[in-house]
Amino acid sequence: MEALHERLALPSGMHLFERDWLSSNGVLLVDPDSATLIDTGYVKHAALTRALVSNTLGPRPLDRVINTHLHSDHCGGNALLRRTWGCQIVVPRASVAAVNAWDSEQLSFQATGQRCEPFTADGALESGSIIRLGGMDWEVIAAPGHDPDSVVLWCEEHRILISADALWQRGFGVIFPELTGPGTRIGAVSAGELSAFSEQRAILDRIAKLKAHLVIPGHGPAFDEVDRALDSAYSLLDVLCAEPERNARHAVKVLLKFLLLDQERIDLQGLSDWFGSIGLVQAANQHYLGFESASSLTDWAVSALVRGGAARIEAGTMLNA
Ligand SMILES: [Zn+2]
Repeated sequence: MEALHERLALPSGMHLFERDWLSSNGVLLVDPDSATLIDTGYVKHAALTRALVSNTLGPRPLDRVINTHLHSDHCGGNALLRRTWGCQIVVPRASVAAVNAWDSEQLSFQATGQRCEPFTADGALESGSIIRLGGMDWEVIAAPGHDPDSVVLWCEEHRILISADALWQRGFGVIFPELTGPGTRIGAVSAGELSAFSEQRAILDRIAKLKAHLVIPGHGPAFDEVDRALDSAYSLLDVLCAEPERNARHAVKVLLKFLLLDQERIDLQGLSDWFGSIGLVQAANQHYLGFESASSLTDWAVSALVRGGAARIEAGTMLNA
């Protein structure tokens, strides 16, 4: 049996920067014509992202950034990388207008309470098109579910999928569009005619048909046990469809943990005024959770993080556990 590191070997010209939960993974694709980074992490880690790219590229410049979607943990390095190298920024077609107007109603940063340094887009990723990166052809595949505008990238030749937050080794990203009621739109989140759970199922079905040999997710290590990952994603999706309030509870905990990873210390005094005013937290509470006040919602979320081992409290301050 082939050793794991051989099975997970990347083609030459492809480099994976495995990051964490605050910053997405980055994939650097290099060929004689161009160097492209797919996803740039969170703004707090932008200098580290630049160092990782620079160390790998040496003296040659980064020509292009591509974002699978515009969540803050995937595009937070864009502005700094452009200032450094003057690189082009290419985003999914559906996000171009919002990003170029820096429309805080359409972009998700305000609705999640997260930060992002503004940038503009020079080009659009069209679903169904083929782009050449790292000497390989990659098909752009629309992947709504976690985010309505997200895409994933598929290389048929090497059977590699860059799956963003549509498929992880265990599960997938929060199905944010399901937090809002029908006809509402908060951030880049809209409850359309088709439920986002159905969209998530459709992208899992599409991924299953690809028969990928290797998946590079938006978070966590690359993996090749793709059927097992799909099984666990389908099981999770079945649970969430049956009990959408679980998606809402999970979303609120994820949003609070993200703020804690960003800020590292959060004073519990006054947290509820601020946390309870975040659009997606309000939407989750209004549609699913039903807490009567921002403080009871926040108390529940803080306790849930502490119980789950994701946070600890010290003298009225919440810290990462
Ligand atoms: Zn995301």
